[in-house]
Amino acid sequence: MNRTSQISRLKQLQSFDLLVIGGGATGAGIAMEAITRGLSVLLVDAGDFSGGTSSRSTKLVHGGVRYLEKAILGFDRSQFNLVRDALHERSTLLRIAPHLVRILPIFTPVYSTLELPYYLAGLKLYDRLAGRHNLKSSYFVSAKKALTHFPMLKSEGLRGGVTYYDGQFDDARLNVCLLMTAVEKGAVAINYAKVVGFEKVQGKIVAANINDKISGDSYRVKARTVINAAGPFVDGIRQLDNPKCKKILNASSGVHLVTTRRLCPSDTGILVPKTEDGRVLFVLPWLNQFLVGTTDQPAEIEKHPEALEADIQYILRQMKRYFSMKLERSEVASAWCGLRPLVSNPEEADTAGLSRDHVIVSAPSGLMSIAGGKWTTYRKMAEDSINTLAKTWKRDDIPYSRTSKIPLAGGDHYGPHIAVLLQETFGLSSVSAQHLLGTYGDRAVEVAEIAKQGYSQRLVPHLPYLEAEVIYAVQKEFAIKPSDVLSRRTRISFLDAKAALTALPRVVALMGELLGWDASERQVNEEEARRHLI
Ligand code: FAD
Repeated sequence: MNRTSQISRLKQLQSFDLLVIGGGATGAGIAMEAITRGLSVLLVDAGDFSGGTSSRSTKLVHGGVRYLEKAILGFDRSQFNLVRDALHERSTLLRIAPHLVRILPIFTPVYSTLELPYYLAGLKLYDRLAGRHNLKSSYFVSAKKALTHFPMLKSEGLRGGVTYYDGQFDDARLNVCLLMTAVEKGAVAINYAKVVGFEKVQGKIVAANINDKISGDSYRVKARTVINAAGPFVDGIRQLDNPKCKKILNASSGVHLVTTRRLCPSDTGILVPKTEDGRVLFVLPWLNQFLVGTTDQPAEIEKHPEALEADIQYILRQMKRYFSMKLERSEVASAWCGLRPLVSNPEEADTAGLSRDHVIVSAPSGLMSIAGGKWTTYRKMAEDSINTLAKTWKRDDIPYSRTSKIPLAGGDHYGPHIAVLLQETFGLSSVSAQHLLGTYGDRAVEVAEIAKQGYSQRLVPHLPYLEAEVIYAVQKEFAIKPSDVLSRRTRISFLDAKAALTALPRVVALMGELLGWDASERQVNEEEARRHLI
């Protein structure tokens, strides 16, 4: 289950029912859906899996309270559908990936008496929309109680607030789990493999040309249908098929930052209800640190979007409006920027007003593009894609979707008994055992086996990641570059950019040994990681 084995399978098979372009949430979900419905599938990504938007989210598995507000205020059916579908998917994800998704209470402070009933009614409606999939009922919190639980909030004018429940997850880990599961079921998935062109017969795509960015090799792959799930790059792929086609996407950038400063309790997030430009901001406990975000600005589509200083300052400024203590710039341990692929709506100038719902567009060449949506709804988007494909192919023998019932890698036998096993059989500390359980689920035992062979040291002293995880990432999780390990298999660079640089030489040494890098390859890999860790 490493990258080399996937290349061998591609060379052996060469022809597939489906070629999926893009290994973020959307593409990975489609690969999983396709393989479990009996289709042969190859997925390729020009970079690492989830290297684009899918590792840069707010990490919420949610219906989106902000989208619900928009749905109500704007009588917008597509926003409304998205919230309802997402709330349904939220409970599916808690079931199929219990090791990576957890229930998180989120508190919304309210500073106006008039707004209290508004927020309470809105969040009660959010509960109602979830129906039987609701996690727990939202409830009113008095100002006095709020200040006991959230002493970091400004007390002046606080009228109380509402606590509601949503899901929280590790986005990049869920992405790799999805792909591991799909590959175990027979899919082929290759990172650093870019689609550079299509071959057509009578105007219909019959094959794609793929460039292996690691070896430099080129592959020609036949596919009955190509699905374009390239996120913000969807229009780029559509234009590769037809240079004259009109764009369907706009991008907006979202910046997050992470700090060790205790901005909220470790088991409850805070939703800052109104930033200076009327948006919401989340302050969430995440992987034992605190995540704040996000911004929402019209953006150019680029491969390595970066968090701008102005965006970081904007977030720090918003914190000052609601929090009694000041978060200093020097306390920001990491910051990143993600591009939201939003389906264009030319009548809307403001990107926050564009729909997060997804669309599926079929070109005369047969290229099927899927755009929009959100992480939470990846499975629903995948189901819709394969249903659309079955109709296009006029095939009623393709079985119904089963993915809502199939646990993802690590989720099958997940339970607290594994942490006990890790401590008793492998002698791991309770912190390491909990960390491995929460990262790998029932596969934690495989990582512990590697740790036992002399790789139980931490990569950096203050984060729980072990050397064994580097080896596991290469052997089982398709990692091929140091940044894959530091940013997406572990989340070190998202938690602490400096710590990632400290860990880099050891990561390069471990990977170099496994992948047979000579001195110059080690140097090239290290230098590349220093340039683009996230
Ligand atoms: P991507 O993850 O960008 O994947 C597309 C992939 O296509 C890339 O990896 C790219 O390398 C690849 N590609 C491009 N061109 C080629 C080519 N020629 N050949 C091969 N591969 C190619 N959703 C939620 O549900 N919850 C949240 O809390 C949340 N927060 C968000 C916060 C921010 C700031 C942003 C930006 C988004 C957030 N979202 C959230 C939305 C969610 O992250 C996205 O909808 C989702 O990740 C999009 O996934 P994707 O697979 O479509 O795109």
